Amino acid sequence: MKGMGRVATVAAAKRMGQIRELTEKIKRFRDDRDWLQFHNHKDMALSLMLEAAEVLEHFQWKSVEACRKHVEDNRAEIGDELADVAMYLFELADNLGIDLPKSIESKLRKNAVKYPINKAKGSATKYTRL
Ligand SMILES: [Mg+2]
Repeated sequence: MKGMGRVATVAAAKRMGQIRELTEKIKRFRDDRDWLQFHNHKDMALSLMLEAAEVLEHFQWKSVEACRKHVEDNRAEIGDELADVAMYLFELADNLGIDLPKSIESKLRKNAVKYPINKAKGSATKYTRL
């Protein structure tokens, strides 16, 4: 469909702008508290993984069906944990001088080459085995 590419590009640009805006809010929150002094790269990467583990805790020892029910009952709490992950991720990328929206767009293009639709659709096989 002609014009869909432009719609997708505008939507992607909007998302990138939103990530940049959120990153600025996160940095303002950090700087209002003078916490940059604690946010070295190692501890930021560590904190990112600790928060990711808090997401994982929601699903530990649960069946697929129990996970589904748990999500229904705990969506707000899981959202908080995902927000923690995203906030560390966005700030860490910024601290490292990485433009995260650009990196995501770039990685999506690389993944599209690794996982062409005609080979990867409906398959969970790793790209090295496609
Ligand atoms: Mg947390």
